[in-house]
Amino acid sequence: MTEVINYVSKVASDLGLNEWTKKLGQQHFNVPNEPTTLCGMPMLGNNYARVYSDTDKTPCPKCEEALVLRADSMYSSALPASDAQEWWG
Ligand SMILES: [Zn+2]
Repeated sequence: MTEVINYVSKVASDLGLNEWTKKLGQQHFNVPNEPTTLCGMPMLGNNYARVYSDTDKTPCPKCEEALVLRADSMYSSALPASDAQEWWG
């Protein structure tokens, strides 16, 4: 699971997204300067992104899905098909 979490964090930074982690480690992502996370949650309360270590975080499935969709379109337009295949493989 650590690999998956690191992968999500890497893709988020490639996409220029901010991580927004709630208390207890639920990990969301948001577009800078937008008032909600990718899953539409208002960003109230504290951000624990730098408080918890990655292994203590649980990525929000909706944010992860939205993030993968964004990554998919970004990488497929930025890379030749063969490279994209390799990246995802
Ligand atoms: Zn979320």
